[in-house]
Amino acid sequence: MSFQHPVFIPGPTNMPEAIRRACDMPTMDHRSAAFEGIITPAKDGVRKVLQSDDAEVFIFPATGTGGWETAITNTLSPGDKVLVGRNGMFSHKWIDMCQRHGLEAIVLEHRWGEGLDASRYAEVLCEDSAHEIKAVLATHNETATGVRSDIKAIRTAIDDTNHPALFMIDGVSSIGSMDFRFDEWKVDVAVTGSQKGFMLPPGLAIVGFSPKAMAAISTAKLPRTYFDVVDMGGPFPYTPPVGLLNGLALACDMLLDEGLENVFARHARIASGVRAAIDAWGLELCAETPAAYSDTVSAILTPKGFNAADICAHAANTYQVAFGGGLGEVAGKVFRIGHLGMMSDVMALSGIATAEMTMADLGLNIELGSGVAAAQEIYRAKPGNGIKKAA
Ligand SMILES: *Cc1c(COP(=O)(O)O)cnc(C)c1O
Repeated sequence: MSFQHPVFIPGPTNMPEAIRRACDMPTMDHRSAAFEGIITPAKDGVRKVLQSDDAEVFIFPATGTGGWETAITNTLSPGDKVLVGRNGMFSHKWIDMCQRHGLEAIVLEHRWGEGLDASRYAEVLCEDSAHEIKAVLATHNETATGVRSDIKAIRTAIDDTNHPALFMIDGVSSIGSMDFRFDEWKVDVAVTGSQKGFMLPPGLAIVGFSPKAMAAISTAKLPRTYFDVVDMGGPFPYTPPVGLLNGLALACDMLLDEGLENVFARHARIASGVRAAIDAWGLELCAETPAAYSDTVSAILTPKGFNAADICAHAANTYQVAFGGGLGEVAGKVFRIGHLGMMSDVMALSGIATAEMTMADLGLNIELGSGVAAAQEIYRAKPGNGIKKAA
């Protein structure tokens, strides 16, 4: 069948038709006034989605990975120390990038499934009275394990030690779907991409810089050319992907029209339905504690001796539905249901139903309908529909 099936991978995410149309544009001269009418609203929209008044927004033709590189190369120098937690594949890859750029990464190792522990950040910052640590890095939502970390708590750890380090957050799989507060959490650099919460095709690295991060640029000596934010100060320094930027402006409008609070509540409700299903199946999340449960992706542990990758392959081959596999340490041990971006209760139900069929086909002891029924109870209990939420 060649028609469009929803995907349940944690990026790229499903695209609203209106966004697809907005991205499909005739050729435009990016030196024209018309382009200004696209890039300016796109940046203003991103700033609002970041919940910031004064973040400088930079948008590169790249992906989230390019955003990581933008963050470190524009603010740091070779040999600088960075303090960073590792609890999954994405935090791992950002650490690897730091090391390959000649930064000295002080790595706080966590279990894959554990949220980043602010008290461990605090301990190290407390000992660093010479302020050799130049940046504190954290991944808000570890997409590989479906683990949310408490960014506000890490901010508090920095403040409590009066440490001047820059605070850099990977929000690639949280921004636009989960509550992310650039100003309130005093984030200095926030990194995301187009193909997750913004519901766009891949192709944009989206980055916010605080005034403090902007001030760090002039002394930062890491080499940078393509990702130099200074070059972004004037007209676009090379050819921008105009259609994607037009889509981004619309994506921001859509998120802001829905209302960020409503967007976050929608993802929280969808995620609790997915978790109710997982519980009904008798399976467990990779995320160890409720505080660590992600509202955008659920990584589900499969029974010992079962290869979780078979679920992804079977669902794709039999039902034309994509689920996420396990990465790195959790390869073969988890499969992931992505529920970020353009996702509704009813879409989530179809993903849950597909996961049930797939697991039953593969011989796991799953009662068909059990997860769907558990999620339905959550989704029926929407505010305003007169149905009391199940206990
Ligand atoms: C997807 C993702 C990335 C990588 O983004 P790309 O756009 O694939 O480069 C980085 N961090 C997190 C948390 C992600 O989910």
